[in-house]
Amino acid sequence: MSDCVFCMIASGEIPSAHVYADDDVVAFDDIAPQAPVHTLIVPRVHYSSIADEVPDGILLALLRAVPAVAEAKGVASSGYRVIMNTGDDAGQTVHHLHVHVIGGRPLGEGMVRPAERE
Ligand code: 5GP
Ligand code: ZN
Repeated sequence: MSDCVFCMIASGEIPSAHVYADDDVVAFDDIAPQAPVHTLIVPRVHYSSIADEVPDGILLALLRAVPAVAEAKGVASSGYRVIMNTGDDAGQTVHHLHVHVIGGRPLGEGMVRPAERE
């Protein structure tokens, strides 16, 4: 999508340092990190959310990228949280499918969305 910020980041139209990249997905740090490590993984192709008939291979690529991102960011052994906000009640603000990988400090208990922490 031409007006989608994550499409522009994935294509390189908006430059960003890639934490991880492969044929299907790109990972980059969140512009407003909610913890010392807060990285987003997005598919190169636009899907609005997990509910957008995402092909199996893309879903697999997104999840396979998670431990690679954790390793790259140094939280593989300390632990991290993986979040996919979907729709209004979850507070999804960017309607390009993305996975949050959050860590680098104790995150507490409960299913907390990033924007409500701190
Ligand atoms: P959501 O609430 O949709 O799950 O999360 C969207 C995330 O994208 C937010 O954590 C927000 O800080 C991040 N974000 C929004 N615009 C940009 C941007 O232009 N660059 C980066 N790196 N992150 C962004
Ligand atoms: Zn997009």
